Amino acid sequence: MKSRRLVYEGKAKVLYEGPEPGTLIQYFKDDTTAFDAKKKAVLEGKGVLNNRISEFLMTQLGQIGVPNHFMRRLNMREQLIREVEIIPLEVVVRNVAAGSLSKRLGLEEGTALPRSIIEYFLKDDKLSDPMVSEEHILAFGWASAQELDEIIQLSVRINDFLSGLFLGVGIKLIDFKVEFGRLYEADMVRVILADEISPDSMRLWDLKTNEKLDKDRFRRDLGGVTEAYTEVAKRLGILQEGQDNTGRKGPVLVK
Ligand code: UDP
Repeated sequence: MKSRRLVYEGKAKVLYEGPEPGTLIQYFKDDTTAFDAKKKAVLEGKGVLNNRISEFLMTQLGQIGVPNHFMRRLNMREQLIREVEIIPLEVVVRNVAAGSLSKRLGLEEGTALPRSIIEYFLKDDKLSDPMVSEEHILAFGWASAQELDEIIQLSVRINDFLSGLFLGVGIKLIDFKVEFGRLYEADMVRVILADEISPDSMRLWDLKTNEKLDKDRFRRDLGGVTEAYTEVAKRLGILQEGQDNTGRKGPVLVK
């Protein structure tokens, strides 16, 4: 790898200084962690898949007017992104009960929720990302009321769009996590979608079999993690059967 300035190293990604001011290079690692990084593994090829899947989803979202940090893919593991000031919240949108919501409220996994629900978690590893409310966010100034409004509106649009996109390829979008950042342009600041959207940050279940096609395969030792991510990429039309990274055709409609 070329020598360049490391800006930030996270659990699954690394950020390097980009070629122009206001840009960064986002590198997708094969490292996978769960349960506060107590469980770790290296899943060969995962970073390549997440780079492609996130590129695809961010591009599609951009086309429906959801502003995001993605600029272009540079290579198998890297993409050029706009530098933002990350708002320290993990925004989780849920359509079906699973994971921590099921535990917290005693809901059986797979129970459809009466409506989509948005939850917030404070990004703080030392505190294990505690759940917080709008009251906390506003009182402690992690986001302003206007920013929170934008975050909610964008999250709802992302959920509507991604739910439909995945449904079209035979996948149920159970829940997902997104992060937002402040983009400073001239004398303007706006909130845009940042980070990544990949099977590391979503729950995706096969529509017919309910088979898990996401990171729960790792969390729950189900095996076949990269195979599941590959299946998601193939259904989205990013990887064609027997091909690596060329000849993208777009999502394959499942009838
Ligand atoms: N999630 C994530 N990063 C986190 C925590 C959760 O991307 O640090 C995603 C997770 O993959 C799922 C959604 O957010 O799609 C909701 O996760 P949940 O709160 O159920 O927590 P978990 O069961 O993953 O601990």
